[in-house]
Amino acid sequence: MGWDFSTDPEYQKKLDWVERFCREEVEPLEYVFPYAVRSKDPKIRSLVRGLQQQVKDQGLWAIFLDEDLGGPGYGQLQLGLLNEILGRYPSAPQMFGAAAPDTGNMEMLAAYGTEEQKERWLKPMLDQELWSAYSMTEPQGGSDPNLFRTHAVRDGDEWVINGQKWFTSAGRVADILFVMCTNGMFVVPRETPGVEIQPEPRNHNHIIYNEVRVPLDHLLGPEDGAKVLAQRRLGGGRIHHAMRTIAQCNLAFDMMCERALSRESHGKIIGEHQMVQEKIADSYAQIRMLRLLVLETAWKIDNTSTQECRTDIATVKFTMARVLRDVSFNALHIMGSLGTTDLTPLQAMYSAAPTMGIADGVDEVHKATVARNVLKGYRPHEGYWPTEYIPAKREAAWARFQPRFDEDPELLALAEGYKAYLAKRR
Ligand SMILES: Cc1cc2nc3c(=O)[nH]c(=O)nc-3n(C[C@H](O)[C@H](O)[C@H](O)COP(=O)(O)OP(=O)(O)OC[C@H]3O[C@@H](n4cnc5c(N)ncnc54)[C@H](O)[C@@H]3O)c2cc1C
Repeated sequence: MGWDFSTDPEYQKKLDWVERFCREEVEPLEYVFPYAVRSKDPKIRSLVRGLQQQVKDQGLWAIFLDEDLGGPGYGQLQLGLLNEILGRYPSAPQMFGAAAPDTGNMEMLAAYGTEEQKERWLKPMLDQELWSAYSMTEPQGGSDPNLFRTHAVRDGDEWVINGQKWFTSAGRVADILFVMCTNGMFVVPRETPGVEIQPEPRNHNHIIYNEVRVPLDHLLGPEDGAKVLAQRRLGGGRIHHAMRTIAQCNLAFDMMCERALSRESHGKIIGEHQMVQEKIADSYAQIRMLRLLVLETAWKIDNTSTQECRTDIATVKFTMARVLRDVSFNALHIMGSLGTTDLTPLQAMYSAAPTMGIADGVDEVHKATVARNVLKGYRPHEGYWPTEYIPAKREAAWARFQPRFDEDPELLALAEGYKAYLAKRR
């Protein structure tokens, strides 16, 4: 009977270290040198490297990679507990070598790359000497991969890629782009001739791939395997986002509770007003439910695979956006006028909720996936009545008892008595 909600004490010690490290080292660096992890300045780089060395010494570098993929193999549950802390600090995932979009791209490389491809791309990505982006969505359609048109044609010892991609996050600053074509997943160095990055949007780029030529060994995984690779990538990515969302919700919740005890109105501290209490209680319950759902899903992935957990991952995906929206709204509201400014993290958190409902697949598609998969476990009822139609169940129960009644007329009389009594009450 393996059912345990406690954290292994040894791992808890590591989590305590992470909490302290993020609060005392990562957050101050972030306030003084924003985006330090990406800085090319040697002084800032050495600050970052110093902190990252401490992470490595703790054995916590890039822990999203399973052992068979060359990582430390902590698994998704332990990663979830770690991300619950990292998600509170915007630069912490990169400080721990575990930030999107690189994590998903590294997972694909680790799972499908040849030894040579791993050496060329995965190793420098793990060392943050190479940054990547993921080009899947296209201007004419994002939710339906059947609408994608970007295609590669083989020409001698090269592939020639043509098409357009939309919303490639950090494409402009990436060294390599993972480009999903209708006939395979390709790795394209950003500086390859024909990679045309459009001026807008600034951070999530519109990229035209115009006669882009890459060598044959830039195809990742099998030809025509892009959808399988994409699933592999996105499945992991979605649960990692959810783990970090719990951290964001906890941060909003802490701010809400602190404020509830710190302000007064109409003769009481606001935490004594029932409508404030309702917001606190609802937020508490929603965070607890999300956390259990995410950790249970992580545990299931560890015991099966992302593929087998698709229904749970999709459930997590649309639930996290809703919980973040509700909890950050409650916190923002309780913070009053200050909550409407950018002087606390709440505004950014609240505006992130609708984004979260779109990135990594829109919520509607995930809800449809959940409903479709869940319905596979059901059958339509026979005849007119649902299985739980009470008169039919009662009739079946009487039929089941009939042999006992035949043997025992007193039991029958007792049952008839109950029947008459209940008929009168109705
Ligand atoms: C912050 C952020 C970062 C992103 N990063 C990347 C990235 O790095 N690389 C990348 O390739 N893409 C990225 N995307 C794009 C993302 O994958 C797409 O936005 C997403 O798949 C939806 O596609 P779309 O925007 O074209 O919306 P559409 O597909 O046009 O959908 C628009 C709306 O139509 C409705 N809808 C669509 N389909 C259905 C359906 N089946 N049932 C019911 N309603 C439906 C929904 O209301 C949906 O919100 C990112 C998006 C965001 C917001």
